Amino acid sequence: MSVSTVTKEQFRQFVSSLIGSAQTVVGVQAKHDKFAFGELKNADDLRLDYDVTILSPRKYVLPPKETLLSFKVGGDSQSVQESEKMILLGVHPYDMVAINQMDELFSQGEYDTHYMNRRNNITIIACDVVTASENVFASSMNTATVDTGFDILLTDIGDAYVVEAATDKGEVLVKMMTGVKSAADGDLSKRKAVQDKNKTGLNKHVLQCKPSYLPTLLEKAYDHPVWEEKARLCYSCGSCNQVCPTCYCFDVQDEVDWNLETGRRTRAWDGCLLENFATVAGNHNFRKHREDRFRHRMYRKGKYVPSKIGGQIACVGCGRCVSACTSHIANPVDVYNRIMEQTEIG
Ligand code: SF4
Ligand code: SF4
Repeated sequence: MSVSTVTKEQFRQFVSSLIGSAQTVVGVQAKHDKFAFGELKNADDLRLDYDVTILSPRKYVLPPKETLLSFKVGGDSQSVQESEKMILLGVHPYDMVAINQMDELFSQGEYDTHYMNRRNNITIIACDVVTASENVFASSMNTATVDTGFDILLTDIGDAYVVEAATDKGEVLVKMMTGVKSAADGDLSKRKAVQDKNKTGLNKHVLQCKPSYLPTLLEKAYDHPVWEEKARLCYSCGSCNQVCPTCYCFDVQDEVDWNLETGRRTRAWDGCLLENFATVAGNHNFRKHREDRFRHRMYRKGKYVPSKIGGQIACVGCGRCVSACTSHIANPVDVYNRIMEQTEIG
């Protein structure tokens, strides 16, 4: 696959031409003093220099609510596939890693056609980070750069981008850009400098161990006092779940129309910190206490999900939960470092 360069003005023209095409183009735009992914109507609104978006691009691969099937009461049902061709512009490496993890989770075992059809319809143009956000710790989690999952990776090297096409879909898009040149050695050196800087510099909270140690650490921490200490201040608001790029838990419900003849099955985001997340038939809640739910989230990130995807830690260090938690308790690094303070564990 190719590595080339394009000037920023030429790239802006390319984005303009995409906006006029049949595919929906989604990109990062300013929202007052923050940034968010949204449909792009004007190439000038695209901000590839953003620090972090409020919500992650998860909402495009796994929407907050979607219909899985429609049915007739007492009759047939039909699968519903809600997806459209989309170009997702400006995905940071840590968010790309999160999408890669979800691709693995939704395709292993019971292949999830709803997720995978949508994912296959999305072309991802990722970009290396230019501005570190106030709570990012991707360097600690080895997610400050990414090698796979994207169709194109952009790296800002001043007045141009280095453009790496990693798939056939990416190559098609590069061919649409005017003024593309093969990347010179100097351009590649500048790209390496950006990526090397990010590998250590996106680290506002420093995890005191390698991420690969977390499953072992947590094995010894089930009864640690940190769960009660932190959860005492938890509102069970679920904000930490909602903003997280790797949270993928959902609730499935059947909705019957007013005519009592037709309906649909939907799934919608859920969150393990919400009080009723673990309520089952008979109204039994097997994680009734806040500290149990708080511990569960940290175990999902550091132990349970990694056991399904070859040890990859399901916290990519985006820092969104740190910013979103009004009680200042959601930071996984604080929790994991606190556990390591115990000499018999660390
Ligand atoms: S746990 Fe927090 S820092 Fe880690 S990926 Fe989720 S939102 Fe980002
Ligand atoms: S840890 Fe923070 S963000 Fe998460 S549910 Fe508790 S109070 Fe809300």
